[in-house]
Amino acid sequence: MKSKNKGLIGVSAEAKNRIEELSKQITAWNKAYYELNQSEVSDQVYDAAYRELIDLETKYPEYKKLNSPTQSVGHQIQTNKQNNKVEHSRQMLSLENAYNFNELETWLKRFKGEEKDFVCELKIDGLSISLLYEDGHFIKAITRGDGFIGEDVTANVRTIKTLPLEIAYKQPLEVRGEIFMSYSVFKTLDGFANPRNAAAGSLKLLDTNLCAQRHLSIFIYETFKQSAQSHFDNLEFLKTLGFPINPANRFCSGLQQLKDFCLEYDEKRKQLDYPTDGIVIKLDSLAFQRELGATNKYPRWAIAYKFSAEETETQIIDIKLEIGRTGALTPTAHLRPVQLAGTTVSKASLHNADQIKNLDVRIGDFVLVRKAGEIIPEIVKILPEKRPENTQVFEYPNYCPSCGSELEQKEKEVIIRCPNILACPAQIQRKIEHWAGKQAMDIHGLGTAIVEQLIENNLIKDVADLYTLNLEAILALDGFKEKSAQNLIMAIQNSKNRSLARLIYGLGIRHTGFNSAKLLAQNYNSLLELSKASPEELCNIEGIGEITAQEINKFFAEPSNLALIEKLQKAEIQTEYKITESQIFGKFMGKSFVITGTFEISRENIQETIEKAGGKVVSAISAKTNYLVCGEKAGSKLEKAQKLNIQILSFDDLEQLII
Ligand SMILES: [Zn+2]
Repeated sequence: MKSKNKGLIGVSAEAKNRIEELSKQITAWNKAYYELNQSEVSDQVYDAAYRELIDLETKYPEYKKLNSPTQSVGHQIQTNKQNNKVEHSRQMLSLENAYNFNELETWLKRFKGEEKDFVCELKIDGLSISLLYEDGHFIKAITRGDGFIGEDVTANVRTIKTLPLEIAYKQPLEVRGEIFMSYSVFKTLDGFANPRNAAAGSLKLLDTNLCAQRHLSIFIYETFKQSAQSHFDNLEFLKTLGFPINPANRFCSGLQQLKDFCLEYDEKRKQLDYPTDGIVIKLDSLAFQRELGATNKYPRWAIAYKFSAEETETQIIDIKLEIGRTGALTPTAHLRPVQLAGTTVSKASLHNADQIKNLDVRIGDFVLVRKAGEIIPEIVKILPEKRPENTQVFEYPNYCPSCGSELEQKEKEVIIRCPNILACPAQIQRKIEHWAGKQAMDIHGLGTAIVEQLIENNLIKDVADLYTLNLEAILALDGFKEKSAQNLIMAIQNSKNRSLARLIYGLGIRHTGFNSAKLLAQNYNSLLELSKASPEELCNIEGIGEITAQEINKFFAEPSNLALIEKLQKAEIQTEYKITESQIFGKFMGKSFVITGTFEISRENIQETIEKAGGKVVSAISAKTNYLVCGEKAGSKLEKAQKLNIQILSFDDLEQLII
């Protein structure tokens, strides 16, 4: 593995070394503390080092490492211990539900709450978790379990990036929250029914590296602090400690404001990237909460207002298999089209054979379909009382419906695959669509229907063939005119110089998502270099787990893949690491600069250089300023920048930073 020379000089090289040194040291201390239960240094020393690292990383984000201890990715060596039961210090209660405003009012009347103060929070469809902190360190995460006893999932929870592992609060602290998976992550996974199942499955993984790759998220919604008076204040307090608190939370007074919030978010939630199923309404006064207490199941001071279910009834007219780019076959129910959550639904995923068996779904059955957010609709259950006489049990075929190859199912895997990875038209189609996708080579205009025609007409057999297409070939397809054909050729040619990360992702190596591809591109200088890496070497990259490493190795051991890479190189696809234009031009994105003193070149010139790289030039120095570009005869601005610890650059330094 080579590290890249990114043109460092002077101040910044020093910073880079210091960041490396601190990262290493803190990681070692963390390891001793969390895994061996030993404190190697005093809290003061630890805190000072940690703060210094955060400061440096803020000033020099370009040197911040993905595996920095401030990024809270789990320790590689540690595995998630299973069946490790832990008792909760306080019972984790569930919530009573209100399905409409009448039920909400009935609840309020029980304690004359119509005029009281409340906090409204989104009810996220994830998993409740209790987190314990001691002496400012995160020490334990326990699932809800039965409310009394949960499971210790500390190692996996530690991989959640937004969760602070260190807080500036030394008393023992318990916080509770909801762990969930965003729709955008969920869409990249196979075989899970919904984001909640996927999040639950991820927390149970034995390998924390695999769990880290699932990119779980969390919002904290509760803490227990003796002196606190108000729940809302508690949330504000948690925010100051760095806990992720849902920005949608709102302080509401009286019934009308509660109703308004519920109605507002019944709409807004459709734009959110995570699943929600209601609003949790909590009394704000903690004294009043204590007074009301709890039943053996629910607190009396909180209720979950459930959104109207986006479920409807329809009939399954067929079940067909869809073939993914890795050859996985997903059974899909074709439905009598029905209106659901504002869209027409005509398909629902059945995920795998087990799901079909569990639901006992047959062709012809009447079913309840649910649609949550952006994800494809799912079948909740069949309606047995409506089952017609002539329903048909779905049988998996023995042969691939696209290419006729005999299907395979590996032992212990639920997924059935077509093994014909090179020539199965359905797989080629998906691979090319993936290659052309936004995160990969981003070939604008190369949609499903066009790819289908290209394959049917034998014009392409793999992604490299795209680059051999000429104008006549495209013009021969349906619906193309001179101009549109030229545009498509141009879009394909423009994709030749994408970054190495996009290229690696575009190849569609199993278990290698975009984030893994980015890590690989940062550690290898070319596709060729990556292709020679051993699984052991790949595993050394933090964030790349064993399974991913093996899949990468397998991919490059396959002669057909090597042939494809050769073909890509012949077609002049960029396969080496190169700082692309967008990376250069985005380098100073979000950074603010102040210019002072006199230079050999004009101020306008300097300003233009900064703005081209995405930075912003302002006139006055504040704590928010990232850099001071300093020439000769600088005065008070230089002094102020030094006081505020703002990084000072000469024009030469600035130019070096851009390279
Ligand atoms: Zn096939």
